[in-house]
Amino acid sequence: MSSRGNLFIVSAPSGAGKSSLISALLGDKPADMQVSVSHTTRQPRPGEVNGQHYHFVAVEEFKQLIADEAFFEWAEVFGNYYGTSRRVIEQTLAQGIDVFLDIDWQGAQQIKQQMPEAIGIFILPPSRDELQRRLTGRGQDSAEVIAARMDKAVSEMSHYNEYDFVIVNDDFEIALTDLRAIIRSQRLTQASQTITHSDMLKGLLAE
Ligand code: GDP
Ligand code: ADP
Ligand code: 5GP
Repeated sequence: MSSRGNLFIVSAPSGAGKSSLISALLGDKPADMQVSVSHTTRQPRPGEVNGQHYHFVAVEEFKQLIADEAFFEWAEVFGNYYGTSRRVIEQTLAQGIDVFLDIDWQGAQQIKQQMPEAIGIFILPPSRDELQRRLTGRGQDSAEVIAARMDKAVSEMSHYNEYDFVIVNDDFEIALTDLRAIIRSQRLTQASQTITHSDMLKGLLAE
């Protein structure tokens, strides 16, 4: 019997490297980890694929999903709605697969209230200047959008102390190693190991 998957909440100010870290982690499609694909009402960026990066929906459809209680959590971020589907998360965790939520602090608080065992990870950039460079370097948003995201970054970062773990994404490879260490350590807790190795433990502890 495999243990229930762990739910990881990953938050960061826009541009801190959250998406890059999660895609590097899941790059070779490990069978035991999955990122949750959110619903959003924002416009797709060039290269973003519906159903893969987000489920892109109209505002009316999003509001209907709220009314249907389809969301585990939802929030308004930068004037757009974002939400996490409840059903997909539950089904995936039940299969013993770890799930990663790339969500903002408002969503993180809602998840923690409903599922206190969820593990919060906050990604910080090494400095404000570097954050600005990354947002500009990504080349995906207009100057206006970048300015708005920089304004929001400080208030977003003020929530870092609501999370269980903090990773500083200065050297990317070190940050990725840190992320992997957090995931591994969660699989080694006594509670997890008791379920994962139940048969082995029976053999070891038999009178
Ligand atoms: P990014 O900042 O480059 O990652 O830009 P995105 O448009 O991908 O994400 C914008 C914001 O929405 C980020 O703060 C995300 O963490 C947040 N976000 C994405 N999906 C969800 C979600 O399902 N729920 C919540 N609450 N926030 C989300
Ligand atoms: P987020 O998802 O948090 O908004 P991204 O993953 O899109 O951030 O990263 C923002 C930009 O910064 C991207 O262009 C990415 O390639 C770059 N980046 C991410 N991590 C690092 C790092 N450690 N050093 C330098 N650039 C980075
Ligand atoms: P972006 O528009 O750059 O893709 O995302 C902007 C912000 O929205 C990011 O901080 C991202 O983490 C957050 N976000 C994305 N999906 C969700 C979601 O499903 N729920 C919440 N609460 N935030 C989300």
